[in-house]
Amino acid sequence: MKTIYAAVLAGSISACALSTAIAQTAPPENPALKIYRETPPKINDLIHTKLDVRFDYKKRYMYGKEWVTLKPHFYPTDTLRLDAKGMDLKTIAIVKNGKNTPLKFTYDSLTVAIKLDKVYKNTENYTIYIDYTSKPNELKVKGSAAINDAKGLYFVNPDGTEKDKPTQIWTQGETEGSSAWFPTIDKPNQKTTDEISMTVPAKYVTLSNGRLASKKVNADGTRTDTWKMELPHSPYLFMMAVGDFKIYKDTWRGKEVSYYLEPKYAPYAKDIFGFTPEVMEFYSKTLGVDYPWNKYSQIVVRDYVSGAMENTTATLHGDYVQGTKRELADRYYDAGRSTIVHELFHQWFGDYVTAESWSNLTVNESFADFSESIWAEYKYGKDMGDMHSYEAMQSYLSQPSAKTKDLVRFHYNDKEDVFDVVTYQKGGRILYMLRNFLGKDAFYKGLNIYLKANALKNGEAQQLRLAMEEASGKDLNWFFNQWYYGAGHPVLNISYNYDAVNKTQTVYLQQSQDGNAFTLPMAIDIYSGGKKVRHNVWMRNKADTLSFPAATKPDLVNVDGDKILLTKKTDTKSLDEYVFQYFNAPLFLDRNEAIDAAKAKQTEKGAQKILLAAMKDKFYPLRVKAINAANLTNDDVRNAAQPILVNLAQTDDNNLVRAAAITALGKLKASGNMNLFKEALASQSYAIQGAALNAIGLLNPADAIPLAKTYEKDSEGALKQAILGVYATGGTDEQWTYVYNAFISGAPQTQFGLLRKFADFTGRVKNPEYAQQGIKAMADLGIKYKQFGIAPQVIQILNGVKTARATDAAAVAAIDKAITQLN
Ligand SMILES: [Zn+2]
Repeated sequence: MKTIYAAVLAGSISACALSTAIAQTAPPENPALKIYRETPPKINDLIHTKLDVRFDYKKRYMYGKEWVTLKPHFYPTDTLRLDAKGMDLKTIAIVKNGKNTPLKFTYDSLTVAIKLDKVYKNTENYTIYIDYTSKPNELKVKGSAAINDAKGLYFVNPDGTEKDKPTQIWTQGETEGSSAWFPTIDKPNQKTTDEISMTVPAKYVTLSNGRLASKKVNADGTRTDTWKMELPHSPYLFMMAVGDFKIYKDTWRGKEVSYYLEPKYAPYAKDIFGFTPEVMEFYSKTLGVDYPWNKYSQIVVRDYVSGAMENTTATLHGDYVQGTKRELADRYYDAGRSTIVHELFHQWFGDYVTAESWSNLTVNESFADFSESIWAEYKYGKDMGDMHSYEAMQSYLSQPSAKTKDLVRFHYNDKEDVFDVVTYQKGGRILYMLRNFLGKDAFYKGLNIYLKANALKNGEAQQLRLAMEEASGKDLNWFFNQWYYGAGHPVLNISYNYDAVNKTQTVYLQQSQDGNAFTLPMAIDIYSGGKKVRHNVWMRNKADTLSFPAATKPDLVNVDGDKILLTKKTDTKSLDEYVFQYFNAPLFLDRNEAIDAAKAKQTEKGAQKILLAAMKDKFYPLRVKAINAANLTNDDVRNAAQPILVNLAQTDDNNLVRAAAITALGKLKASGNMNLFKEALASQSYAIQGAALNAIGLLNPADAIPLAKTYEKDSEGALKQAILGVYATGGTDEQWTYVYNAFISGAPQTQFGLLRKFADFTGRVKNPEYAQQGIKAMADLGIKYKQFGIAPQVIQILNGVKTARATDAAAVAAIDKAITQLN
């Protein structure tokens, strides 16, 4: 599963940022944290699940018939307990020789305890028949920060009353939502084959796990589709989707790869998902285990409650993954694409070998997070993989409360809490580090052993350790104890001294975190006389002093030469050393650190040298970073940068670099650049057009509004943002309706990105009805995302509108009412 609200609330769309709201977990004194979260005991094992379902759109019910086959796990038993959330259970019977014999049961609305007709041994299968109604909208269950709901089964616009929104049904199982739509043992350490027959209005398409075994048209205008999943998987990975989707069929090594999209986005199916077979090939080869299932489908639905979900053979995505060809051309390796590869990797790590409990979620999610970096590395180069992994680490480090949590989490307040920056980003970085320590070949051999040993079963971190030890021949207890069964990270301070008399370079390493020292193997590269000499060392103590012979003072001592450690570090290099590092050390992070150092000292020549060179770095995100970092109010920087920026704005092969250069030039408000901006406005890239429109707006605000109007029709992405920005900043009542419609129908990213300007506009419009619309739209947004901690920000913004509209009594009243609801 991939969470997304986080990124939205943080105001960024970077791939893995989780929101600060997600970091809010119970305080340490919470008694729930004292409970040891054991792996669920297995009394009965699921074997096969057969469902026959139809939907009542009006009531938001699902009528189900289930035949579930089980057997005792080891000990004989005459009882069966199934999870079944908020259902009407009409009949529960044992099936023998085609006959149903009713069984006694007790039901507390969450689980049903069934008295079997006899004591069964673990060599005996038995089949239970259940006739039930699922009522997900009447269910009282709470979701989590990652998954904002837990109904299991969702009806989108079931009455068709919401304009411009399709009618859809879809499901979300993880963590334990599947038992809201079929009775099961809803635990990750259960696995079952399945067969699902869905009877739906004939105009709709269905999707479920496995293969579509049959389609039967019924006389009453419905159709019954039967899907069969012939390899066992966990109940939380079951899925169904029903709606008006166009199917694009692709293929990988003869297996069906398909993309289900709303008709509007169907023409872009290949642009959105077309790289999927290439990723399947890459992961299959890397792992030495071919994609294990018979097909792979991806579907995009409305109103999804999280980012995306790796249902076996049938991943479900939220609609942010969609885009037109032109929108996608500006996205490069964005949250959508990293999510596509994340969910695909889960088909091995999660679906084929499944975490045995939520405590061990790391063997699902850390791998999926890690997979984003290795795909980036393979597809876009080592810099992109390193950057992705580094940004994941920064997400983890940015959340202070995360350092108290073990990666394998035997103690948590709620199982949903395990879906956090520790399990995802920190865990992904730990794997990236382990791969570097063992070497790629040994590491992937270890993954191969783990997957083969636990195929179609469950795994935990200990099995991963054993597999890595088997592959590499190295003991890894220390690594797993430190990183999997321990919390936190080293806070590393690095300083240097060169002793010219004794011709010795000394490096002082100090760990200042609370608690024990972390054991850190690392490389130290010493650059001297045009040569690099690598020393592989282990830091084992809170403070270590390392000395190296050096005939002359080195040009650079580069601690952690592979730039791989999971650490919060303070390095005390001089600017000259950073200049040397930028031009001579090879890695993304070497150059990234140098740019950071330069940004802080732009009056110095060395810093200017780094920034100007970095504007032409071979890796486009560093070009963007250098452009954004340059302080153009400094005359030297501006004079040297301007021709470079003009050149980048016109010729760079990356749309985001061109857009960043235009944005930087726009802030100079130099009329000599007007032609450049106007030319850029004709680009096919929304990012470039948006930057150009903003630049024109800064240079000549009166021109910008009529100009924006000419682009209204064909505007998405950054161009749409720019138009909205121009209107919201300088527009009048004439532009209100356009801005308002864009705001209320926008994706969460658009809404949060526009919120402040929208509030200013709401405060300024003359027509009091418009003000009412604006206030309601902002209040609705705050209420919708209240559980993510957004309310205080919305209240603050509404108070600003209240001040601006102090004489508009109706507006003041509406704001007071909204604030009451938000509190
Ligand atoms: Zn995931």
